[in-house]
Amino acid sequence: MTAPMARPRPKGPVLITARWVVGHRNGRHCLIENGEVVFEDGAITFVGRGYAGPVAERRDHDNALVGPGFVDLDALSDLDTTILGYDNQPAAKKGRVWPRSYIDAGPYEMYSREELAFQKAYAFANLVRNGVTTALPIASLFYRAWGETVEEFTDAAHAAAGLGLRVYLGPAYRTGNQVVSDSGVIGTHYDEARGLAELEAAIAFAERVEGAAGGLIRAMLAPDRIETCTPELLRRTAAASRDLDIPVRQHACQSRIEYDLVLKQHGMSPPEWMASLGYLSERSLLPHGTYVSGSRHIDRPGRDLEIIRDAGATIVHCPLVSGRHGGTIDHFGRYREMGLKIGLGTDTAPPDMILNMQVGMILTRVMGGSAATIRSEDYYNAATIGGADALRRPDLGRLQPGARADINVFDLTRPHLGQVIDPIQTMMLAGHGRDFSDVIIDGRFVMENRMIAGRDETADNQRAQGQFEGLMARYPERTLHHPPTSEIFSSSFPVDRATDGPALWGSA
Ligand SMILES: [Zn+2]
Repeated sequence: MTAPMARPRPKGPVLITARWVVGHRNGRHCLIENGEVVFEDGAITFVGRGYAGPVAERRDHDNALVGPGFVDLDALSDLDTTILGYDNQPAAKKGRVWPRSYIDAGPYEMYSREELAFQKAYAFANLVRNGVTTALPIASLFYRAWGETVEEFTDAAHAAAGLGLRVYLGPAYRTGNQVVSDSGVIGTHYDEARGLAELEAAIAFAERVEGAAGGLIRAMLAPDRIETCTPELLRRTAAASRDLDIPVRQHACQSRIEYDLVLKQHGMSPPEWMASLGYLSERSLLPHGTYVSGSRHIDRPGRDLEIIRDAGATIVHCPLVSGRHGGTIDHFGRYREMGLKIGLGTDTAPPDMILNMQVGMILTRVMGGSAATIRSEDYYNAATIGGADALRRPDLGRLQPGARADINVFDLTRPHLGQVIDPIQTMMLAGHGRDFSDVIIDGRFVMENRMIAGRDETADNQRAQGQFEGLMARYPERTLHHPPTSEIFSSSFPVDRATDGPALWGSA
């Protein structure tokens, strides 16, 4: 793989100081007041206070929290389509499920290669702005011809390497897709040959990309939703993951519709079915683990969570997107007590890990019926150590000698933050993803003082808006009965369009 290298690292030891540092010692995070971190050649060499060694470069961050970069296991990597459905239901009538007529006409790509390449670069920069240093990209397949392509992931590798973001890349593939009939019945349309060919391409891509850009780029396999996979696709995926020893991310236990479809197809719940195929392992990453037996979402006895736990798989918890769809895991505190591995993902816009942790804490306390159900450090651990452990990367998610220098700097001087008695608690109470001032990845300064070299945020936003409007204009073609966009996308209030002419709301 010939991805370009990220910009060079500073030469010699770099010392970073701040009012607070999240160091890692004896297997857990601790807060170091007036802390110091030293790194060289991309690796951390010192964490603590009173460093007396040589320093080539020094950054004093004063009133800030220096911590390990976030590991985003379901990292938003396109122009998020959640907004299209947020107030527009039901999904099957609003272009969120392909109508039979669209499949019969031949589904097509709604974005060009250049547009997709831009979206990756745009999304990666936004992840960095939010303190994310390791990203496993996720995008919607709603607007695709079928799965994601190797060529767009080749572009994604270039974007990540050029920016300096640590990524695990793999194009999403599938053997089936949900389809809604003219009469409104939702079923599955299969094209197994196409999905298996995509898997072969994904394996070849994984072999090519693993370890590129000096190790910044790693491979993963990304079969799409469990309800659209045939058993053969899962068997071959599991074998490839074992042979290549790379993670597999598979959406499962995400929705009621999915759970019921898998139950109907296979007579087993999604975890039962995956286990029966020998598919689950410690390499499995499962967004979202919400709809499981014994939860208040699924009235069915079973051992879904125990199966996931005993396989060593990780649940990828994305509180914001789940909550927007009216669901949440039931609940974080209970999952943790059961011994389940939990990592976090942003999955939706804004790609803000802090907002996700805040929403997650609130939902956990609501579900648990008590403020004692969860504490700030539980979510902070999931966003750092939890994600790193899911990837079996003891060198990520913690600041300790020998770990990679993946660091974010949270600015504690922002006026909206209020008072600080503990910087992590302040982050969880009042923080915002855009409170990060600096991000270092693999020892490179990727964001400095809120600036990312080579990216113009205003121009990027304009270009993204233009692309999104182009996508919306094509929505009638893939929406049931092909209504105009004005019927697909509702407005909050009646809209007085500029094209309607003068709007004279005077006293007459
Ligand atoms: Zn997801």
